[in-house]
Amino acid sequence: RIAYVNGRYLPHRHASVHVEDRGYQFADGVYEVCEVWNGRLVDQRRHLDRLERSLRELSIAAPMSRAALAGVLEEVVRRNGVRDGLVYLQVTRGVARRDHAFPPAGTRPSVVVTARRSDRRGQEALAAKGVAVITVPENRWPRVDIKSTSLLPNVLAKQQAKEVGAREAWFVDAEGNVTEGASTNAWIVTPQKKIVTRPAESGILRGITRTVVLEVAADLGYAVEERPFTVAEALKAAEAFITAATTVVMPVVRIDGHVVGEGIPGPIATSLRLKFHDFSELA
Ligand code: PLP
Repeated sequence: RIAYVNGRYLPHRHASVHVEDRGYQFADGVYEVCEVWNGRLVDQRRHLDRLERSLRELSIAAPMSRAALAGVLEEVVRRNGVRDGLVYLQVTRGVARRDHAFPPAGTRPSVVVTARRSDRRGQEALAAKGVAVITVPENRWPRVDIKSTSLLPNVLAKQQAKEVGAREAWFVDAEGNVTEGASTNAWIVTPQKKIVTRPAESGILRGITRTVVLEVAADLGYAVEERPFTVAEALKAAEAFITAATTVVMPVVRIDGHVVGEGIPGPIATSLRLKFHDFSELA
C-alpha cells in the first residue's frame, strides 16, 4: 500500500511522521474519510468543504490548494488500485517543539493520505442482516461539529460496543436524547413512518452521508423530522439505522439488546441504502 506523506508517495513501511508532530502529541488535527465507489470518490466536494471548515474553526492553515488536495486524494486511490473502499485524509498543525499553545507562524501543517479497499460483499451481507448498537453516556466535548482526530471517547465507546457484539455505540446526552454514534449519525423511523434524525446544529457532526440521505428521503417522498429523539422512542421505533461514509446506510436491528421493529432491516432504511449512490456526487 502507498501513502501520501507531506509531498511524497511512499510504501506504508516507509511512510512516517515526525515524533514531534502535534497530531501525535496533542491530537491537534482534523480528518476526512471519503468513500470510493466503482473507482470514484463519493461527495469529494462536500468532504473538502467540511475539511476547510474544520481547519478554519481550529485556525490550522490550509496545507495546499483545494485542487491540489483533490489531486492527492485521486492519486492515492489510483496508486492503491482501490475500486471500492475508503480514502483517509488527515491534516495536523504540524511539527514543533512540544508546547500546548500554537507553534510559530509559518509552521507547515502535516498532510497524510491513505486508501484501502473495503469488502463490498461483506458490507452487503451485514446490511442484509442489520447490526446491533448499544447506548453510552455522552462524554465528548461540545465541539463535535469539528471533525477532529481527538477521538478517545469515540474509541472507548466503540470498544465497549465491540465487546458485546455490537457494531456501534450511540451517545446519549443529559436530556436522554441520542446524539450520534461513535463514527456514524443516528436515525429512527417512527411507527407512523416518519424519519427522525437529530438537527446538525448541536451535539453532532454534520455527516456528509446524512446530508445526502436527507435528499434521498425527500426525493422518495418520505416525511422527515429533524429533531432530537430519546432512547425510549428509539426502542419503540419501526426502524433504526446509522449513516457514514464507511457504511453508507446501515440498518440497526437491536438497541441495548432490545429488538427494533421486526428485528430485520426495514423497508425505508433499505430503500435509502439502495438509492444512495444515485444522489451522491461522484468525482
Ligand atoms: N458522526 C461521527 C462522530 C463520525 O465520526 C462520522 C464519520 O466518521 C459521522 C458522524 C458520519 O459522517 P460522514 O457521513 O460524513 O461519514
